[in-house]
Amino acid sequence: MPLNAEIASWIADMKAVRHRLHTNPEVGTGTVGTVAFVKEQLRSYGVGFEDIGENSLLARIEGRGPGKTVALRGDMDALETQEETGLPYQSAVKGRAHACGHDGHTATLLAVARHLAGHRDFDGAVLLLFQSGEEGYDGALKVIEDGLFEKHDIDFIFGLHNWPGYATDQVVVHFGAAMASEDRFEILVRGKSGHASMPHGCVEPFAAVADIVKSAQSIVGRKVSAHDKAVVSITQVHGGSADNIIPDEVVIHGNVRTCDGAVQDLIEESLGRVAEGVARMYGVEATLTYRRKHPVLVNTMPEPARAAAAAVVGEDNVLTGELPVMGSEDFAFYLRHVPGCFLWVGNGKDSALLHNSKYDFNDEVILVGASVFVELVRQVL
Ligand SMILES: [Zn+2]
Ligand SMILES: [Zn+2]
Repeated sequence: MPLNAEIASWIADMKAVRHRLHTNPEVGTGTVGTVAFVKEQLRSYGVGFEDIGENSLLARIEGRGPGKTVALRGDMDALETQEETGLPYQSAVKGRAHACGHDGHTATLLAVARHLAGHRDFDGAVLLLFQSGEEGYDGALKVIEDGLFEKHDIDFIFGLHNWPGYATDQVVVHFGAAMASEDRFEILVRGKSGHASMPHGCVEPFAAVADIVKSAQSIVGRKVSAHDKAVVSITQVHGGSADNIIPDEVVIHGNVRTCDGAVQDLIEESLGRVAEGVARMYGVEATLTYRRKHPVLVNTMPEPARAAAAAVVGEDNVLTGELPVMGSEDFAFYLRHVPGCFLWVGNGKDSALLHNSKYDFNDEVILVGASVFVELVRQVL
């Protein structure tokens, strides 16, 4: 397959870069050491950059003349989990690991930077966005709030993620929704506390909690059309302090995923109705707090991504009919501002799952991913 020959010639360097990042994982927006290391690499390629967001970095490579601007995004943050791979370059930090492969996404973007800086055979400019805090720390929002789209005239944005279960010469491009929205909610159930032997003198909250949990979990089966995708999960219930006291308050936490904004609205409304209805029945108060965390990731420019991937791995190895997954990605926030696409590159058919303690990014993805990005730059600029 026509992988980028020049990147292939120094791929050993990029693997070493990836392993070094892997050994030194940083979580959330605390990617201070990672950013310093990325800056060092960019300087050695002659690429300029600026700080953006919270420990994110934006590098810029000008082409040969005026034209459009494309942004390519790679995330950099690790997870709070213990690695159990036993690899020679495994995490040196207890309880922290690159279990989602963002070390590899960073290395891939660096390979693109090194190649494009040496060629500049395109019109316009390429922005390389090294982003912190993807794993639930609002990293993308912080970059946007810091003026990504105001300070830079960006026309399109593309990103990629390694994906276990596909071979490394397979690329997945969704035409439409690729990844679900993620919302989080809390229902505070308030009754009146008292002695466990005298529930009649209290307003006992647990019966209401049980009904809310059951009813919330039936929203998808009874309210959402069988043609739509949605998940409502209860994730935490907290309340009580002693075996002989009926408590005042119990709090329920949950998580909602959908692939459609209208379904998201429907679930939020339904949860509100459940809380209100059950509260009235039991005479408790139930207050819903619903927070939309990530929007649905809908690819608005899949065709150039498909064509670029096909040029690298061949038409037959680009899969466009895969179902969206119910996981979410903060790349979705960028697609609210400009068109673009988020593609997956196979991490190997036998790869451990993302976020698993035995997972490792497959180094082959660096060459495939960087080749696709370079080809994509040629396609859109
Ligand atoms: Zn992840
Ligand atoms: Zn990830």
